[in-house]
Amino acid sequence: MTTIAAYAAPAPKAPLERTTIERRAVGEHDVRIEIAFVGICHSDVHQVRDGWRPGIFPMVPGHEIAGVVAEVGPGVTKHAVGDRVGVGCMVDSCRECENCTAGFEQYCLKMPTWTYNAKGKDGEPTYGGYSTQIVVDENYVVRIPDGLALDVAAPLLCAGITTYSPLRHWNAGPGKRVAIVGLGGLGHLGVKIAHALGAEVTVLSQSLRKKDDGLKLGADHYYATGDPQTFESLANSLDLILNTVSAPLDFAAYLSLLRRDGAMVNLGLPEEPVQFVLQTLNGRRRSLSSSGIGGIAETQEMLDFCAEHGIGAEIEVIDAEQVNEAYERMLASNVRYRFVIDTATI
Ligand code: NAP
Ligand code: ZN
Ligand code: ZN
Repeated sequence: MTTIAAYAAPAPKAPLERTTIERRAVGEHDVRIEIAFVGICHSDVHQVRDGWRPGIFPMVPGHEIAGVVAEVGPGVTKHAVGDRVGVGCMVDSCRECENCTAGFEQYCLKMPTWTYNAKGKDGEPTYGGYSTQIVVDENYVVRIPDGLALDVAAPLLCAGITTYSPLRHWNAGPGKRVAIVGLGGLGHLGVKIAHALGAEVTVLSQSLRKKDDGLKLGADHYYATGDPQTFESLANSLDLILNTVSAPLDFAAYLSLLRRDGAMVNLGLPEEPVQFVLQTLNGRRRSLSSSGIGGIAETQEMLDFCAEHGIGAEIEVIDAEQVNEAYERMLASNVRYRFVIDTATI
């Protein structure tokens, strides 16, 4: 066991504060990673506030982890000391079910072991990346390509893969009209990746405040959802909508923008149940779906794709003691476009 510094919420809704946690000794197939940067995902805010389910406290959030391998177990073959690596939302899964064996570890039938706010196979709580080190099984660690700096790569480990996976699954590419709802952490990477895939990209944001940024990120069109004209002019025109908003939306309004066989894929995970009317799907054989992060191999594919296309997150690097303020700013949609903690400040 090693004692290391971390930032934790001691109880639900409590501010995060500096503390120490124990990391297990490096086992046969483990790697110990010196964390350099960790992104702040809106899922961290949901979980610290017990928005989805009662959490495990103290909670050390953080599942957008980028760092360097400091030690490897004797059985490790995939990573070596000095390698630049990342860890996303999961650190283990059953490895045997039909989803794990097909590369969809995120949909493990026995539930993946989440990077934090979960219990590992050893029954111990998991602690995330708002910390200086983490010990992870080599199979759940991915390689960060040389072309990507660690700070801009960190948010790819959740926000990047969460948008890449559905864009690929629903065939975003040339000739496809893709809309991204919400220009935050997920949304801005969704715009960059959809543009790099060759799709025609529309941003649907609460206001036109971030329009210049959106167009620079690769959007072809940018609309304010507060303007009723937006919904009239885009009716029946889109192939795919990725919704990254963390609060419930008027589904009927968004579904009406899809052309025949179009899909609306919900990535945002509101804390409340949502409602919609089935007729909005029926009229054009539309689909309403949701997608969770991506598998390990697909996460590696996404990182390689991003390196090849020069895609990193737009970040604001903060000291660890600014984390509570960062949460407030995230709740107020005031982030351009991802907070990343420099873990040297923990
Ligand atoms: P974020 O950075 O806070 O971005 C969300 C964006 O949604 C905001 O920047 C804002 O963009 C828009 N928005 C926020 N509140 C809104 C409201 N009440 N009405 C309309 N628009 C609103 O959050 P994030 O880190 O991208 O995460 C977004 C959601 O995805 C969260 O619920 C998170 O838990 C979830 N998530 C899911 C997965 C998955 O696997 N499916 C993975 C990661 C995160 P504008 O100002 O442009 O409107
Ligand atoms: Zn996340
Ligand atoms: Zn499984």
